[in-house]
Formats: sequence, C-alpha cells, structure tokens
Amino acid sequence: MQSDVVTWEACPACDGAAALGWVGQTLTEIDCAGQCRLTDALREAIIRTATPPAATRLRPLDE
Ligand SMILES: [Zn+2]
Repeated sequence: MQSDVVTWEACPACDGAAALGWVGQTLTEIDCAGQCRLTDALREAIIRTATPPAATRLRPLDE
C-alpha cells in the first residue's frame, strides 16, 4: 500500500469519510474511516465521484 496523496470522499455506505490513496492519477486504495466492508459496487460508487488530485490542479474550474 503506497500512496503519494490521499483525498476524501463520502462513503455511500455510512455517509462517513472514505480515504482514497493515489499515485499520480491512479487510484491505489480505498478505505472507509468507518471501517465499512467495501464491496465492488461501493468502490465503484466512490470512484465515480472521486477526483484525481492531479486533475484537480489541471482543471480547477471544471464543474
Ligand atoms: Zn463507510
């Protein structure tokens, strides 16, 4: 488990915070702070709303 940057998204299961670990724009790990067991569907839901940290810098005004 190696991540350069960690961002936070809402966890769809518990409405808490889920930590996303990134290396560049590649998502390397997802971990819910509430210790939810993240199924593939939950991971997909989190990934869909996630913004890679590099993309945030490149497109600050997007949406
Ligand atoms: Zn959760």
